[in-house]
Amino acid sequence: MDLFALTAHEILELLANGKVLPDEVETSVRGRINAVNPRTNAFIRTYQENKTPANAMPIPIGIKDNICVKGRPVTCASAILKDFCPPYDAAVIEKIKASGGVILGSLNMDEFAFGSSTESSSKGIVHNPWDLERVPGGSSGGSAAAVAAGEAIWALGSDTGGSIRQPASFCGVVGLKPTYGRVSRYGLVAFGSSLDQIGPITRDVTDCARLLSIISGFDRRDSTSVDLPVPDYALGLRRDVRGLRIGIPKEYFIGGIEPAVEKAVRAAVEFFRKEGAVIKDISLPHTEYAVATYYIVATAEASSNLARFDGVEYGLRVLPDKPRKTGIVDMYEETRARGFGDEAKRRIMLGTYVLSAGYYDAYYLRALKARTLIKNDLDKAFTDCDIILSPTAPTTAFKIGEKTSDPLSMYLSDIFTIPANLAGIPAISLPCGFDAGGLPIGMQLMGAPFAEEKLLSTAYAYEQANGWHSRKAQL
Ligand code: GLN
Repeated sequence: MDLFALTAHEILELLANGKVLPDEVETSVRGRINAVNPRTNAFIRTYQENKTPANAMPIPIGIKDNICVKGRPVTCASAILKDFCPPYDAAVIEKIKASGGVILGSLNMDEFAFGSSTESSSKGIVHNPWDLERVPGGSSGGSAAAVAAGEAIWALGSDTGGSIRQPASFCGVVGLKPTYGRVSRYGLVAFGSSLDQIGPITRDVTDCARLLSIISGFDRRDSTSVDLPVPDYALGLRRDVRGLRIGIPKEYFIGGIEPAVEKAVRAAVEFFRKEGAVIKDISLPHTEYAVATYYIVATAEASSNLARFDGVEYGLRVLPDKPRKTGIVDMYEETRARGFGDEAKRRIMLGTYVLSAGYYDAYYLRALKARTLIKNDLDKAFTDCDIILSPTAPTTAFKIGEKTSDPLSMYLSDIFTIPANLAGIPAISLPCGFDAGGLPIGMQLMGAPFAEEKLLSTAYAYEQANGWHSRKAQL
């Protein structure tokens, strides 16, 4: 039996019945990494953590390279954080360790989580396990590819504008962005602090629920963390969808969606209708402003968060070699010029521009107002609906290199995922079919704040009846 190909709940059952030992599971997964990582490049590095005594859930997990693991390199796939080892664990890592989780190593990503294809990594491109010539999505492309390829049973990603859900959709796995404040951001290298959330990437909805229960919860070290009890999400999965009100936003079914994607998502809507859900056509009128709003807010916050990487406290330091350039500003300049990649520089420039005195009102302040309008649309929709259903992304996985020369077309891959981050609401992506080329298609379910249980039970009902998650990438 290939243990690496199982879900965590299947492995836990085998462990409970004494059919396998935790070490056998870990050996199987590490063997798989050795066998396929040269082709996927999902892991940047692997390492062996000391095992914690309480081995309640010894599930091998991969960690996106922007989440701090004490004493291990955390580089955000950027040259500027070369050899940086954080002196503490992120809150989610403390929780994973306490649960007995087996940390395998760090997963590849777009540099500082800027991107939708994992092509902006300084550690090389990640290849989609379903078709190695295609991207895995991004920015948590390493996390999604690893889970799809059997290199990790489950993984952590981060989502600022879609970076868990869009790669989950491209790689045929399940990814959930929790409500803002549900999961502590302590120890997550900040990109857009008002948008970022850490979340699970898994092979099915049951595993997603389990991992979410492990990582959720209040943390006073994150001032935006919310003090609400954490349900055992896996216990709430079996709920009837009869009477569930599902909204279908007309703005999410626009030109530019691949026909196979639209067809698969419409078929999912019909499934829910047959099961007795109430399908409602709704409108989210400010959707058209979401991408523009996001790229102002996110770059503004990113430019400010990246200011700390200047060669003094973290990672790389480059001393200019020209004889007259000896000041500290020269050192900052040289370090940042060499350490950041093109996309990071583009974001720093954009963000600094929209925050600058002359343009703050024209761009940043207006973006904040548009953000409120987008959130109001969603608040209003949730007075009438329990769930909003849409495609996760307009397309399936695109070819490596296809969008690298056109940042705007790359930015549009997140058109359906960004509103959830702007509004702080939870959203899940799960497989809902395949296109003619055999590439996975993802559907997104969004819910009101802290409606994770409802998202998961709705996703579970669909998954169990349709079974797309059981198809595996052949590597
Ligand atoms: N693709 C989006 C961006 O480039 C979202 C990234 C993310 O969620 N980290 O900003």
